Amino acid sequence: MTIVLASTNQGKIKELKALLPEYEIVTMKDILGDIDIEEDGNTFQENAIKKAKTIAEMISDNKSLDNYLVISDDSGLSVNALSGEPNIYSARYAGPNATDKDNIIKLTENLKTKQLAKTSAFYTACIAISYKNNIYTTHGWLYGDVIDTVHGDGGFGYDPIFIPHGYNKTLGELPADLKKDISHRSQALKLAMKIIKTIV
Ligand code: IMP
Repeated sequence: MTIVLASTNQGKIKELKALLPEYEIVTMKDILGDIDIEEDGNTFQENAIKKAKTIAEMISDNKSLDNYLVISDDSGLSVNALSGEPNIYSARYAGPNATDKDNIIKLTENLKTKQLAKTSAFYTACIAISYKNNIYTTHGWLYGDVIDTVHGDGGFGYDPIFIPHGYNKTLGELPADLKKDISHRSQALKLAMKIIKTIV
């Protein structure tokens, strides 16, 4: 069985591949080319389901592809003092084609406007699994603080401004192996692996 990652986010793909070392992994781009899936759901779960279902349907239409299981991840950051923003809009917080850097600038400016040098926040990841016309979802969370200055260049997205609880450095500075152990994505994926081992 091959796992297809329904994502184009290189940061996520790198982390998901590292978290699934025992499986053959391909990305949706590897097998289907460039595809843009509109994320128009109201929750991480709705978006994750849409991504996994869309790719699973495209695979089932292609007779040369079989024995694939599709995994998608929809994730984001919520800052309590900003009414939970950016939440499901994390990837496009600063606009439709925003880069990670643009999004960090917008978030840190919003923190500075509120004179918040450090304030509580959390990451959420929803993983959706599509296998033989069934959909399963799991969630994981990572709690911590966001700060109004950038530290480190590891990870991706908001990692250079996110300090996990129990640490005094950002995920941009902490080792990738530590993030692999504690992240919202790894929590959700651990639960997803229990499902995969049951259904496959
Ligand atoms: P999605 O592709 O719509 O799920 O958007 C995910 C966005 O959430 C990313 O582009 C990042 O901005 C943010 N995000 C999700 N997970 C992480 C993470 O592990 N570190 C940093 N940012 C993340």
